[in-house]
Amino acid sequence: MTHSKASMHHTDLPKAYEPRQVEDRTYQFWLDKGYFTPKIDHSKKPFTIIMPPPNVTGELHLGHALTATLEDIMIRWHRMKGEPALWLPSTDHAGIATQVVVERQLAAEKKTRHDIGREEFEKRAWQWAVKCRQRINDQHKKLGISCDWTRDTFTLDPKPSRAVVTTFVNLYKKGLIYRGERIINWCPRCQTALSDLETSHEETTGHLYHVKYPMVAQSGYVIVATTRPETMFGDVAVAVHPEEKKYADIIGKTVAIPVINRPIPVIADEAVDRSFGTGALKITPAHDPVDFEIAQRHNLPLVNIMNKDATLNKEAGPYEGFDRFDCRKDLLRRLEKDGLLVKEEPHVHAVGHCQRCSTVVEPWASKQWFVKAEPLAEPAIEAVKSGQITIIPDQFNKVYLNWMDNIRDWCISRQLWWGHRIPAWYCDDCDETTVTVGKPDKCARCGSAKIHQDPDVLDTWFSSGLWPHSTLGWPEDTEDLRYFYPTTVMETAYDILFFWVARMIMMGLENTGRIPFRWVYLHGLVRDEKGAKMSKTRGNVINPLDSIEKYGADALRFAVVMGTSAGSDVPLSSGKMESGRNFANKLWNASRYVIRSLPEGTVDMALPPNLPIEDRWILSRLDQLAGKVNKLLEEFRFGEAEAEVYEFVWGEFCDWYIELAKIRLNQPDSPSPVPVLVRTLETSLRLLHPFMPFITEEIWQTLVARLPHDATRPDSLMIATYPIATGFTDTQAEREISLIIEIIRSIRNARAESKIDPAKRIEAHVHAKNNSAIEPHRQAIETLARVQPLHILGARKESRNDGAQVLHVGEVDIVLPMTVDVDAEKQRLEQEKESLLTRIAGLEARLSDQTFLSRAPQPVVDKERGKMQDSQTRLQKIDERLAELSRMKA
Ligand SMILES: [Zn+2]
Ligand SMILES: [Zn+2]
Repeated sequence: MTHSKASMHHTDLPKAYEPRQVEDRTYQFWLDKGYFTPKIDHSKKPFTIIMPPPNVTGELHLGHALTATLEDIMIRWHRMKGEPALWLPSTDHAGIATQVVVERQLAAEKKTRHDIGREEFEKRAWQWAVKCRQRINDQHKKLGISCDWTRDTFTLDPKPSRAVVTTFVNLYKKGLIYRGERIINWCPRCQTALSDLETSHEETTGHLYHVKYPMVAQSGYVIVATTRPETMFGDVAVAVHPEEKKYADIIGKTVAIPVINRPIPVIADEAVDRSFGTGALKITPAHDPVDFEIAQRHNLPLVNIMNKDATLNKEAGPYEGFDRFDCRKDLLRRLEKDGLLVKEEPHVHAVGHCQRCSTVVEPWASKQWFVKAEPLAEPAIEAVKSGQITIIPDQFNKVYLNWMDNIRDWCISRQLWWGHRIPAWYCDDCDETTVTVGKPDKCARCGSAKIHQDPDVLDTWFSSGLWPHSTLGWPEDTEDLRYFYPTTVMETAYDILFFWVARMIMMGLENTGRIPFRWVYLHGLVRDEKGAKMSKTRGNVINPLDSIEKYGADALRFAVVMGTSAGSDVPLSSGKMESGRNFANKLWNASRYVIRSLPEGTVDMALPPNLPIEDRWILSRLDQLAGKVNKLLEEFRFGEAEAEVYEFVWGEFCDWYIELAKIRLNQPDSPSPVPVLVRTLETSLRLLHPFMPFITEEIWQTLVARLPHDATRPDSLMIATYPIATGFTDTQAEREISLIIEIIRSIRNARAESKIDPAKRIEAHVHAKNNSAIEPHRQAIETLARVQPLHILGARKESRNDGAQVLHVGEVDIVLPMTVDVDAEKQRLEQEKESLLTRIAGLEARLSDQTFLSRAPQPVVDKERGKMQDSQTRLQKIDERLAELSRMKA
């Protein structure tokens, strides 16, 4: 056979699971079969996810691994439910972030981008992006994600670029994009404008300086308070509140800026915060957004005092050419010498830093392009309010609406070289701005051919804001757009709700008239095991590729999903990955046992008419599991869904059902458990597949190769049908088997507590009113609890123990008259009693402490009381047992 499936055929599983032997081969098999590409079927509703595009700035981290795993779980689940499931992979050019990376590379060669020029810079950035994209895609493949690589899209590809330009032109024509002089956040290092979201505000302890501005033409001063004294050279007024009595006389008078002695008026404006500093505010409109607005109201000029690199220009008089911070230092010395510095006091305030390079940003008036946000926000608010779009977890709906209600215009131009160039051309002759999709050959107004394009590029979030529709072909009316749009789920981290999710909703509604997605699922951030953020400086970063190498991709997937819930940060440790690996091994060994139990030749898969009770029990549990898992996945509760499958496979299936089945397999005349073993394993593999795709596919292929031919069986587990609940519930079987399990478990616990050699068989008397329900499980109890002889008797009447240990499981009493080493057990119990008494004393002190009782939250107090209760119960038991042992000794 040349069929690639041939390589998947085995008749037995190797002894140990080796992820490295399986993963790449299995992934290639899926790729070759084309399973990741959905078939458009108009009779079915598609399920669509657009992948949040990772930045082409480096490698994937655990956050990406979480994103990819959650999305893959959803996609695989829906695909197995028979829906055309599209998961569109993508990458983002990441404007400023990538430019910073390339600039760092240049710096290593002692060059700047200006040394090599724009064209060469773009070439280098492209080389980097292509390489990085390849690496990201390879890493994603290692995780086993089933996205449609034939639709892989990069934000700078021709099609999404056309969507960007088209959107810009449309919004410009509608007056929703404008160019204007506004205060923006300026990074003097990156030398570009930044949006508010790209500026991180850090609480910083600085100083508030009180400076005297002398009155002109009369004696006296006005004292103003400022955190950035060097900006005084850009002052155009001193403003006071109109109702502030102490300044009433000086409104309309003139003061002089110290050092340069430029006269400026004293004005009155209601926006002045009377409680800040002295209540007199210096107005620096070119370097402060509040001042900018005040200056506009009073028709005051803009005085820009800074160059692009944050050195001062000629407006600063003697300080021309100084760096902003050097100027501050020298200026303060001079003001002090001149007696103009009244005082300086420590002052905590938020200072903006560039998110990409951490340089202190400068609020700076400059000519930029803006999106008028309010008209776009209105329908986007409505879409969430009306429930057309649901954000999970719920509390983020409020966060979203609150931000949208207070939305400000969005500065979209960046003074960068890497990104979508702004489609605006300026006329050298008449200054007209021509905005078109393609390059115009002449000025739209005067017809001059002397035009030049705006050198700036667009904010990287402008293109990602169009992502759900631009990746599907918009502005063209494509089949993909018609079929897959609106998409179903947008799954991303909560920290980019405003950067990205809000803008996709605004832009999607604006461009297509429809919502971009039905659900927004926000996951938390992956943290280290102590809950700290992972960062290179802390040295606690876990590289997903290293983890895959060490534990296998399925174990990593298992670990990132374990304990995850919407909006909550997830701690991740190597312990969780070990659990994932242990689970894979447990499943592997159990499957290997099942496959090896299959008889040679034809396997009869038909269920016999009178199924033994443990068969009915496991099938009943399995059916309920299928119901639960589907419900949890529907509710986006991935961590809980995974935990349900895990508990079932590890506990009920491996630890109990297989152990019970072994007893029957060893007895040729009892009904064969094989059909139920196979059915339970096969269904479990399907249930687990979205979470751990590689190992489940590998086992499934080996298993079905041994089963009778079935023409309806697919070639791969990933396109098999996802199990659903069929309503097969057998409560009687569940009650009976869970009682037997509890009996076995309590005997095992008692043995462990008394440190009895695991190989040794002990005598047991099981007393039950309804002992006929226990009799059929005689062998299970004997084998699994290592009991010999086992007496199954009626309800227990005597109350004397005679030194035997008595266990209670519901209404069943178990008497273990085991011969014990009385002295050894007494000693062990005395020791336990001692530490228990210390514990009780500690708890007693705590619970009688009034301060603790009045201050601690109720759940904490309850927990302490619970501990006390448990300790006292245990103490009582020890005392009883000690008394018994003493009697035996006597
Ligand atoms: Zn910067
Ligand atoms: Zn012109």
